[in-house]
This record gives sequence, structure tokens and C-alpha cells, in this order.
Amino acid sequence: MRAWLESEPLVIARAEGNVLVGEDGRRYIDGAASLWVNVHGHNHAHINSALRSQIDLIAHSTLLGLASPPSILLAERLVQLAPPGLKRVFFSDSGSTAVEVALKISFQYQQLCGFSRRKRFLVLDQSYHGDTIGSVSLGAIDTFHQIFHPLLFSTVRSPADTDEFERIFLAHKDDLAAVVMEPLVQGAAGIRLMPPGLLARAAELCRAHGVLLIADEVATGFGRTGTLFASTQENVTPDLLCVAKGLSGGYLPVAATLTTQAVFDRFLGAPNERVTFFHGHSFGGNPLGCAAALASLELFERERTIEQLPAKIERFRAGLARLIAPLPSVSAIRQRGLMIGVELRARPEQPFPPALAIGARVCARVRAHGVILRPLGDVVVIMPPLSITPDEIDTIITATAAAISETLPSGVPIEVNAPAAPTAAPTNPPLRGLFVAGTDTGVGKTALSRALLRLAHARGLRVTPAKPVESGCLPDPSQSGPHAPLIPLDARALAQAAHSDLPLDAICPFALRAPLAPSLAARREGRTVTVSALVDACRALHARANAHGAPATLLVESAGGLLSPIEPAVSNADLAAQLGLPVLLVARNALGTINHTALAIAELRRRALPLAGVVLCQVQPMSADASDDGFADHARAIHELTGVAPLGLLPFCPDAATPGDAGHDALAAALAIQAGASVLLGHLTAPAATPQR
Ligand SMILES: *Cc1c(COP(=O)(O)O)cnc(C)c1O
Repeated sequence: MRAWLESEPLVIARAEGNVLVGEDGRRYIDGAASLWVNVHGHNHAHINSALRSQIDLIAHSTLLGLASPPSILLAERLVQLAPPGLKRVFFSDSGSTAVEVALKISFQYQQLCGFSRRKRFLVLDQSYHGDTIGSVSLGAIDTFHQIFHPLLFSTVRSPADTDEFERIFLAHKDDLAAVVMEPLVQGAAGIRLMPPGLLARAAELCRAHGVLLIADEVATGFGRTGTLFASTQENVTPDLLCVAKGLSGGYLPVAATLTTQAVFDRFLGAPNERVTFFHGHSFGGNPLGCAAALASLELFERERTIEQLPAKIERFRAGLARLIAPLPSVSAIRQRGLMIGVELRARPEQPFPPALAIGARVCARVRAHGVILRPLGDVVVIMPPLSITPDEIDTIITATAAAISETLPSGVPIEVNAPAAPTAAPTNPPLRGLFVAGTDTGVGKTALSRALLRLAHARGLRVTPAKPVESGCLPDPSQSGPHAPLIPLDARALAQAAHSDLPLDAICPFALRAPLAPSLAARREGRTVTVSALVDACRALHARANAHGAPATLLVESAGGLLSPIEPAVSNADLAAQLGLPVLLVARNALGTINHTALAIAELRRRALPLAGVVLCQVQPMSADASDDGFADHARAIHELTGVAPLGLLPFCPDAATPGDAGHDALAAALAIQAGASVLLGHLTAPAATPQR
């Protein structure tokens, strides 16, 4: 609870489709489907209207001894849609209760059949079936379950291996009431994919030996794995099927346990025959919940939800392979349908120490990129509504890649004990984008910034350039006299590359003449430059860009090196901290760069400033006989020394210093093929941006 008290709660006030909107108006893609429940998006007109119609009739009446039209219709519809042979429906109100019901029905069924030995349950390692004591007994995730051990009944456990399962099953077959499993994917275990055929083999064994099969499809049900139910992918009809999460489209707590006529018939008898199934929740089969569920099931047909899944599943697969798999700390990506787990590890065989809470830190970080995700340990889970759009899929992937890279540049956690990156006062919404800083002056910051802006523009991203202070500016040659205005050439180059029509004096409010560090150049001209004035200028630019059109991000290029003073004793690093933007560190690909880069990274860590990445620039032509540009050696040494692998190399471009297009295009093209380009573009992608065409 301490971590909870110390964290700033994000208060969600409303939603539109797949986007959650905070009280402060910020928008986040619901990458966790509000804990795996949402199916068609939030605030859906069809489900809303079904609920309005129902609430004008009745909000709740009990199913104990009475019935209601929505629960009757929903039971009928579920029987039509479920794997063939499931004919009877028992309503409750959560996944845990759906499992409790299945557990108790199967136990009582075996007793009623006269199999008094059949009292045990066979479960898979790392299974999760809910948080009530019965479902916790079935669970096998020690983190969640260990402390309750004295309260739990014992189970038989098997690893998720088909042959091993068969061996253990056969050893206990006469004692088993039921086998319980999550078909195809164990969700809460960290999106663990089950070996193909395990479910079908379990079903065969159960049938042959009089053991019931309970399929917990609370997570996998309603399209998650690509079909309405996962069990059908192995042609299995379980004896009991548990559904909840997505049943009502994620609107209201409704759950159901479906079973066969054969099981149902065992409970037939007069009240005094002691075959009653004593179980009933106050709100089981709630009419509002059932109305929402009926509307959700209609939407599956109307919106052809299942038919549209293959393209979305493939888009995730391809995007994850391209942008997430290459990240050094990603040890595995597991996907089945729209259930995705990205596992982070220090090394393939070595997890991060749990105290680092890497998964939680990545998911905290991804919010700054406009996405909500929730981790399971160090597995980042991506489980969006089925209505997720292609653009939203892309945003989730780039945001996740950026959050992982920022938390773990090259696989090494940074700022472990440092306070979180400085957050702006509540009146100032956080900025998004990059702060470009150099290990020195003349290292290629402007060339890289231009190439990046050019590339972002080509990808349809709106990025506002800012060069709030520039020294070494020359007077406008078209105007003579001592008062001719100074032209900030770097700022102008950035504006051109970004296709920005913002006035140059907004992009660069402080154009200084002397080619010195800003604080020194300003002193010569009798001017005062302050970090807070530069922050205000950047915020004003950002607000201006956002005032018209789609949301924009900011690329702020600093003047001079990371610790060059803006005011006496106040440097670019302080500016980066106050802007709250991650730092893109630019270094020269030349002798000395290992030392410069390592020093700059050490300083960023000391200040707990997030590092977006390091890029080396070739600022001079390579000598004719150079067989190698030295980049690979520099990159390896920097990686070994700091744990940060440079994202790429910007090659030398003779035209880069001229304002024409040729240099821009060549460098943008060169940048595009660097492995790290997508990480940088991820930072420049506004949350839920609508790309301009
Ligand atoms: C979420 C979940 C449950 C529990 O559902 P609740 O509605 O949270 O009680 C049970 N089984 C599985 C597989 C789940 O994912």
C-alpha cells in the first residue's frame, strides 16, 4: 500500500471507444481493456442504448426462484454460441464465482454419482482461476496464493506438458473430480502459451476416466484468442465452461458457468432427495448485466468482430517483431490472438531482481506515451479491446518500445533509486517529445535533429521544432546597419525540416550573436537568458501547435553541450529536467567519444534524467583509406562501459550544412534505416495522434 500511497493516481473520468480520458483531459489508449474485459470499446452506442432500455424496465430482480427476460435470452444465446453440447447455464457475477460454481458442481456431481473417492482437482502449474478461497485453492501462482496456504484445499498439479500431464492424470485418475485449465493461454501466469494439443488430450483422458473437464475461459472467452471461445480451437467441449470478463462486453459484472445436460440431470430430484445445488449470489444474472451481454453478443455479429481479428493479430505480430523483439531486455514475446505478453529480463536466463519492479516501471512510463498497460511481474501485458484500430495498434507498439527503451536503455535499468523524473506542476500538462543535447558543441545535433524532423514529417507525425536559444547568429544580410536582425540558422533549418510555419522568433526567441555558451553570449549583449524563459517559450510553442490540428510533440534542440550554461551555473541539463523531456544524446563519431559519451550518461543518471538514446554523428568525411568508420568499436565500448548501446550512426553528409533539401533527404534516409529510428519516432508520436496525410 505504500507504493500506492506514493503514486499519483490517474483518475479516469470518461472514455471514447478504445481511449480512456483522464479528469485532466489527457487521453490514453486502453491497452489493458480495463483489465481484460472490454470488447467493443467503451461508451458504445449500442450497448448504452440496450442498458437505457433495460433500466427503464427494472435494474434488478433475483434469479433465486424468479426469472427475467434478459437472463432467459442470454442463456439461450450462450447455449447457441458455446461449444456444442453445453446446454445449461448458471449465472453469477465474476470470474471467481463462475469458477467456484464449476468447482462445486463438479464435486457434488461426482458425489451424487456415488464416486465418493473423486474429490480432488488436477490443475496446471502457474494457473490462476480467481481470488476467492476455492478458486485460490485451484491457483498455483505463489506470489498471489502462498500466504493463504493453510486455508486452501490441496490439488494435484501438473506442468504444462502433455506427456507429463497424462502421466500425472493416470496416477490420480480415481481420485479426481475434475481437471481445471485455462484453454490455450494462461493469462495471469504472464500470458503463457499452452502446448498445442494439451487441452484435447486432457479432454480425451477426462472422458475415458469419468473425470469432468472445467475450462476456465474467463480470460480467453469472447474472441480473445481469435475465436469466440478458445476451446473450439482444439475441438473440445468441456463439461463445464466458465465465462465472465468479456461476457458483458466489459460493461458490468456478469458471469456464467455452462454445463452439459448430463451434469444437469444429476441434480434432478425432489427437494428432500438432497440433490440441490446450494449456491446463489444476490446479483447473479442481474438484468442490466444480461442486457449488456446480449447487446455485446449482437455486436459480434453486427460489427463482424471475429472476422476482423486476423488482420489485427497479424499487425501486432509484425509490429512486435519489428520494434519490440530487437530491444535488448526483451527475452520473449508471447502472443495468441489479442493476448500478448512481453517478457523483460536482465539476460535471457536471468530475471531482474523483483525489487526493481521493472514491469511496473515500464507500465508507469508508457502512460507518458498515451497508453495504459498493466504488468504481471516483469511481463508487460498488451490486451486491448477487440475493437482496437490499426493506428491504435501502431501507437501501442511504438509507445511500449519507447517505454521499455527509456526504462532499460540496452537492457540496463537506470535511475533505480532516483526519484521519478521531475513532473510538471499540475497546471502545466506534461510535454511530450525529445530534448536533443550534445556531448559537446559541433557534434551534429542540428544535422540529426533535421534528419529526425524530416523523417517524422514523412511518417505523418506532427512535431514542433524548438531551438529556444541559439548563439553564433549572423545579421540578416538583406538588411544593413548595426540593428539588422540576427538570423538563427539552426532554428531556421529545423523549421524547414519540420515544414513548420511557426514564426522563427517563436522557435528561437533568443538569437545571440557571439559564438559562445548562451550565458556568456547573452552577457556580451547585455541580455538575460533564463531557463524559465526558455521553458515558457517551449510550452508556448507546444500550446500553439496543439491549438490547431492534431496533437503535436516537441523536439527541443539545446545550444552547446549538456552542461553548457544557459544562466550562470544553470545548464542545458537543468532545461531538460524542467521540460521533463527524455534526452536524446548526440555524440561525435570520432576519437574521444567514448569518454564524452560515458561522462554525459553518468551526469544524466546522477540527475535521474530519462535517456531516450544515444546517436553518434560522423561530422567529418572519413579518410579515404578508412576501412571502417570506427562506429562499431565505439558503440561496443560505450555499451560495455555504460550499458547503453548507441541507437545508430548518422553518416557524414557534405550538403548537411546547407539549407537545401538534398542534405536533409540523404540524412533522413540514412536515419530511417538505423535500428533505433523507431525508438526515436516513438517519442515523437503524440498520444492517439491522427497522422496527417
Ligand atoms: C480474471 C480471471 C478470473 C477471475 O475473474 P474475476 O472476475 O476477477 O473474479 C478467473 N480465471 C481467469 C482465467 C481469469 O483471467
